[in-house]
Amino acid sequence: MAIERTLSIIKPDATKRNLTGKINAKFEDAGLRIVAQKRIHLSPAQAGQFYVVHKDRPFYGELVEFMASEPVVVQVLEGENAIAKNREVMGATNPAQADAGTIRKEFALSVGENSVHGSDAPETAKEEIAFFFSGLELVG
Ligand code: ADP
Ligand code: MG
Repeated sequence: MAIERTLSIIKPDATKRNLTGKINAKFEDAGLRIVAQKRIHLSPAQAGQFYVVHKDRPFYGELVEFMASEPVVVQVLEGENAIAKNREVMGATNPAQADAGTIRKEFALSVGENSVHGSDAPETAKEEIAFFFSGLELVG
């Protein structure tokens, strides 16, 4: 198994409820290292650009508005098989379908306000990390 990096976002519903530390503990307990992290407030244009892959989905407008509604914490997680491992720790998109113990099962409010984002493949992880972080910010 290779050491990978993946892009994670703690979404507005979670930052608003002061859950950043509890969510980070889930990542660290699963062996993922937080190698870069910052709290930012996305503009609607930035949120729209990040989620442009979903622009034709019916929930796009709602998703962009939500992601720009409050600060988010963007972070790079590193570890063995980090992309798949992070998706496992996050749980299913819809919290009603998420496994017990996952972040979304424990914290998500709905399929839209589901507390975390995680990259879904090596290519998207690379693009999404570069969207938020410069090489100088990735200290390992
Ligand atoms: P994931 O975040 O698990 O990779 P997707 O990439 O399919 O899920 O969707 C991106 C985000 O869009 C979801 O995390 C969620 O915030 C939102 N979303 C997905 N499906 C819906 C839906 N049916 N209604 C509202 N929001 C949704
Ligand atoms: Mg996705």
